[in-house]
Amino acid sequence: MNIGKLLTKSARTFPENLAVASGSKELTYAEFNARANCLANGLNRLNVQQGDNVAVLMYNCPEMLESMFACFKAGCGVIPINFRLHPKEFTFIINHSEAKVVIISPEFNEAIIKCRDDLPQVSYIISVSGARNPFLDYETVLSAESDQFEDADIAPDDVAWLFYTSGTTGQPKGAMLTHRNLLGMTMNFYADMCPGFGPNDVALHAAPLSHGSGCYALPNIGKAAANVILEAKSFDPEQVLKTIEVYRATNMFAAPTMIKLLIDSPAVDRYDHSSLKALNYGGAPMLVEDLMQAMEKLGPCLVQLYGQAESPMTITYLSHDDHVLNGDPNQMKRLASAGIPRTDVEVKIVDSDDNELSTGEMGEIVTRSDLVMKGYWRDPEATAETLRNGWLHTGDMGYIDECGYLFLMDRSKDLIISGGENVYPREIEEVIVQHSAVREVAVIGVPDPVWGESIKAVVSLAPEREVTEQELIDFCTDHIARYKRPKSVDFVEELPKNNYGKIVKRELRAKYWEGKVSQVI
Ligand code: AMP
Repeated sequence: MNIGKLLTKSARTFPENLAVASGSKELTYAEFNARANCLANGLNRLNVQQGDNVAVLMYNCPEMLESMFACFKAGCGVIPINFRLHPKEFTFIINHSEAKVVIISPEFNEAIIKCRDDLPQVSYIISVSGARNPFLDYETVLSAESDQFEDADIAPDDVAWLFYTSGTTGQPKGAMLTHRNLLGMTMNFYADMCPGFGPNDVALHAAPLSHGSGCYALPNIGKAAANVILEAKSFDPEQVLKTIEVYRATNMFAAPTMIKLLIDSPAVDRYDHSSLKALNYGGAPMLVEDLMQAMEKLGPCLVQLYGQAESPMTITYLSHDDHVLNGDPNQMKRLASAGIPRTDVEVKIVDSDDNELSTGEMGEIVTRSDLVMKGYWRDPEATAETLRNGWLHTGDMGYIDECGYLFLMDRSKDLIISGGENVYPREIEEVIVQHSAVREVAVIGVPDPVWGESIKAVVSLAPEREVTEQELIDFCTDHIARYKRPKSVDFVEELPKNNYGKIVKRELRAKYWEGKVSQVI
């Protein structure tokens, strides 16, 4: 089934239900579907055909969901781009994905004008700002079109969403998510993440729609539930709590950092959040201590998910029922886990030769299901490596206990997760090493009470050269997204190396993590 039909069907059966609310703007399912249809017709008129790609560069707004569904309906691949990326980074993604059209929110008008010459394959840029030349105005595109559209007849393995992840080599990779993958994710949400879900439910989108929150818009739209959208430029706990109360929100996706901001806010006791049935958290480790506090303050609504772009939102889960503080040591231990494989998902642990490991043995987590991506866009080598032997190799390390609970121990590849955002050290190292005063650099994650991890660069200087911490941080600002800049820089004589001359990051990290409790008890 074309995943766009989730909207088409909801609009037919529940036309008057609230589909989207944002600020003072509200759309029923009939209106929302009509607008997505107009845009799908508009894309066709701009010569965007089934199988073409369309990039969406927007802060959270109703038009972002409209654009995603217009693409699904038209059988196009949509590329929702993280709004925090540096222009160099989103330019790379737009070009690499071969997007023919880019749809932007007003904040990006200026940035896109600056890099327009670097986007030769893009035929049109549609802006919701109302501005024209060099843009097409979003509302004008819609108003010229019919609100009837026949959803494209797709094959289940056609690409619906190109989900760009940062690559360890520094170049982002586009995980090709098919209609089948997204339908699987949607069905699994109903099965595991929020059983008993229906048209009276209300999603709050307080996290970027280009990532987890956008994924979870699909199951909400599929059941004609309401989608309340916050701009998400920054996470304001009071605004989030207030919106939960006003709309009686029942489900929300949040990175662990956001949960921590919610429970640390005095506002948590001032607003009524009892309507929340599923506060789905994941994307990064949740410290047990934080989790226990969250359970006390937010009540029985927490569900943990473990997934990745390549298997969207869906590998394992720690269910509602496992979030209990009953003093049973086995149950308490489970709070440090990422739960059990999802109903329709297989998970196992393998060694470096892909041999399955036994209970309790640590190795790489691999998974197989209808959720696993088709491959990486235009990257057959990375696809073959990651999907070898029919299993998705997650790059995450962990073990499974005797009851089937997965304990994520470490992220291989030295990924840093700061505030739920993935940051690959190599990308930053490649920038810093360009500074003439720098001899060697290693970037690592160090503990941070708010962000989980913060980015630290450890640098050794070229002989007789000097540079300050601030100069290096500013240097990074010119090349990469602000959230990827190191928060701090330490200077050392020599970086620790092994016999092969490779920097041993484990050793480097140890001094900063000494005495800190990791996720595992
Ligand atoms: P992304 O592709 O941006 O969704 O990031 C996926 C990565 O985030 C995974 O490969 C894990 O390393 C990490 N991750 C996701 N969910 C969890 C979780 N529940 N606990 C710990 N790490 C997680």
